[in-house]
Amino acid sequence: SKKYLSDIEIAQQANMLPVADIAKEWGILDDELEMYGKYKAKISLDIFNRLQDRPDGKLVLVTAINPTPAGEGKSTTTVGLGQALNKIGKKACIALREPSLGPVFGVKGGAAGGGYAQVVPMEDINLHFTGDMHAITTAHNLLSAAIDNHIHQGNALNIDLNQIVWKRVLDMNDRALREVIVALGPKSNGVARQDGFMITVASEVMAALCLATSLMDLKERFGRMIVAYSNEGKAITAADLNVHGAMTMLMKDAIKPNIVQTLENTPALIHGGPFANIAHGCNTIMATKLGLKLGEYLVTEAGFGADLGAEKFLDIKCRYGNLKPAAVVVVATIRALKMHGGVAKNNLGEENVEALQNGFVNLQKQVENIKKYNLPVMVAVNKFVSDTDAEVNKLIEMCQAAGVEVALNECWEKGGEGGAEMAQTLVNLIDSQESNFKPIYEVEATIEDKVNSIVTKIYGGEGVIFTPKAKKEMKRLVELGLDKLPICMAKTQYSLSDDPTLLGAPKGFTVTVREVRVSAGAGFIVCLTGDIMTMPGLPKVPAAERMDIDSDGNISGLF
Ligand code: ADP
Repeated sequence: SKKYLSDIEIAQQANMLPVADIAKEWGILDDELEMYGKYKAKISLDIFNRLQDRPDGKLVLVTAINPTPAGEGKSTTTVGLGQALNKIGKKACIALREPSLGPVFGVKGGAAGGGYAQVVPMEDINLHFTGDMHAITTAHNLLSAAIDNHIHQGNALNIDLNQIVWKRVLDMNDRALREVIVALGPKSNGVARQDGFMITVASEVMAALCLATSLMDLKERFGRMIVAYSNEGKAITAADLNVHGAMTMLMKDAIKPNIVQTLENTPALIHGGPFANIAHGCNTIMATKLGLKLGEYLVTEAGFGADLGAEKFLDIKCRYGNLKPAAVVVVATIRALKMHGGVAKNNLGEENVEALQNGFVNLQKQVENIKKYNLPVMVAVNKFVSDTDAEVNKLIEMCQAAGVEVALNECWEKGGEGGAEMAQTLVNLIDSQESNFKPIYEVEATIEDKVNSIVTKIYGGEGVIFTPKAKKEMKRLVELGLDKLPICMAKTQYSLSDDPTLLGAPKGFTVTVREVRVSAGAGFIVCLTGDIMTMPGLPKVPAAERMDIDSDGNISGLF
């Protein structure tokens, strides 16, 4: 049988062009490019003024069925589709999220695509890249330090020590820091209290960066961030502590989109990467808008399955960015659909057309959901070499029978060429079907109504149960005048319901909202349906133990 190279082996063999050459070819001026070495650059925000009259390209969202341990390949498809569009003569760029360092040392692979559809230089992108994570960590922790200092200096704002909602952050999987006591020791160390750490990408600073439309907009968002409540129940913000200006200053470079390239020299804007549960899970609005100015198409992705990722992309990001997608691509794998049809992970290697037929309901539901936003939609079948012809043909037949455009995606194995059919199907879809995008709910509705719309229309549930705690928190948001924001659902990614074991397209379930928080700076209300991990831990044998570097600087074991 054929031997397949690992992702890093393929990446290390890439024929990269100097990123300045790519930028030039795509109409970015020398003065607008800020180099970070030869293969990474930031793009100055001046470019937005220069290109403001240029018409936007078509926005394409890549999303997926509910994930299973079998893997879907959203990033791989996003990169591959960008490469493929260029292969068929279109100008397309891609916009992806920045990977977090935490998972790099844990178990999950990088966030740079896979096979012959990757972004490079993958080592740099997965490690420190251009320092955005550092800037976000620092801006976040400056606010943390300001809170404890304010209390130490006499607590003029009367902050209730039991109602501090702003934790500290670090870009590392480190479970030992989930709950900590700060300010132990003598009085000069401050007032001791319980605190905790989250991973940097879970920071509201990250979410705000991703939804900001300018540096001054980011400053206003920082100013609105709620860090605590006072003994009188007043919300205490970063503006009350007067550090939102310094926080913005720390972000002056992080706000500029980063440009790198794919294995086929397609420009890739990699910028921002918020958590997909307590935040919205998409790259920045600024990078997305820039990509729309640079090419005829901008392909981007959203985290998790379409019920979470696409919903938040459409109801939060597109709303704030005034973005109008031209089409949505739903990625499905035969392996994952077989799992939705009841096959255990260990038996995925065996052909099973019947299970595929049973699991199809998950794909069908996600496709129907996209249509509820009045958007053209197609399915991309991310082909694994182990998929049989009978399975592939069956899936395509089922899509056609359901009246859904479908194409095979072989980008992982063959790069852009393997996605030519998918790219052509997408172009035809966009040319023949108009997008009349509208969000699934109005922001002016009550929190209950907004969540109810998501649960009944998107998840396919019967309704929502709010716990007494959640009801109390909603009441407070109404009192604070913060209830008219979009909703950010924090739910299991594995099921359309809030029960990770319910695969396929479950019916007759209700969703329980246990907690309601506001991210007033980012600009959304987080509804938590279960325990959400904001500081992951490392596994028994961390991936870090496989990693090394030699005297020539060659890296090994990074995926
Ligand atoms: P997602 O964005 O949905 O999390 P990725 O695109 O990051 O998924 O892919 C997850 C992993 O699966 C990567 O290691 C990638 O190399 C692998 N992968 C994706 N598509 C294929 C495929 N068609 N065949 C084999 N491996 C694949």
